Amino acid sequence: MSTFYFVTLFPKTIATYFSESMMGRAVANGTLRIKIVDIRSFAHNKHRRVDDYPYGGGAGMVMQAPPVIRAIESIPNHDHYPVIYLSPGGKPFDTGEARSLAHQMAAAEGLIFLCGHYEGIDQRALDRCVSVSYTIGDYVLTGGELPALVMSDAIARHLPGVLGNVESLEEESFEHDLLEYPQYTRPEMVDGVAVPEVLLSGHHAKIAAWRHEQALKKTAAQRPDLYRKYLAEHPPKTGKK
Ligand code: SAM
Repeated sequence: MSTFYFVTLFPKTIATYFSESMMGRAVANGTLRIKIVDIRSFAHNKHRRVDDYPYGGGAGMVMQAPPVIRAIESIPNHDHYPVIYLSPGGKPFDTGEARSLAHQMAAAEGLIFLCGHYEGIDQRALDRCVSVSYTIGDYVLTGGELPALVMSDAIARHLPGVLGNVESLEEESFEHDLLEYPQYTRPEMVDGVAVPEVLLSGHHAKIAAWRHEQALKKTAAQRPDLYRKYLAEHPPKTGKK
């Protein structure tokens, strides 16, 4: 079974997320295991302080290297698992990275997320422990817990047994470089707006063609960058031999 390890100063943030919905179910039914390592319990001082002023001056505090190193190295077989540091300066995370990390995680049976806070973590801990850094976008959050949750959720969806229906992954946005088509459910009429007729036809080929056309339109309108990539990989057929 695959285990996500979260090395953090805020264990409750992580525990809460995995207590309900689909990730909660995956943990409850044993498809996924979560272990949370509280960095503060590795502070060797009376007030369990883990941060200090930056050498060279400047705003904010920096997480000290020794408790971070001790926290990571307390994980049994930690050197068998990829260690990911969440950082605005990391590699951009996307669906391709999620899929590849899911394969790595399944092979290693574990993956460690190191969540920073304040101005970040002393570089010596990062140099010693981290395999790769990832960012979830070009903005700065107060801590690495949300990015670690975002990444673990996206990765877990690619692990066997986490999603009830594997087909839902196949049709999802970003698979095949397209956004997903619009979805509809009951009731058939909402404030005078009807469900597109084709979806009630029961004609599977027509429904698939309509959904594909909608996915193309939506991708072209909302993500022209993705649409260009799709067209480069799926050039329109000219009809000539
Ligand atoms: N001083 C850092 C900088 O300018 O790059 C920002 C530190 S940020 C306030 C605190 C922590 O939040 C980071 O150590 C990292 O773990 C996390 N973090 C913030 N934004 C992030 C993002 N976009 N992606 C991943 N992690 C992020």
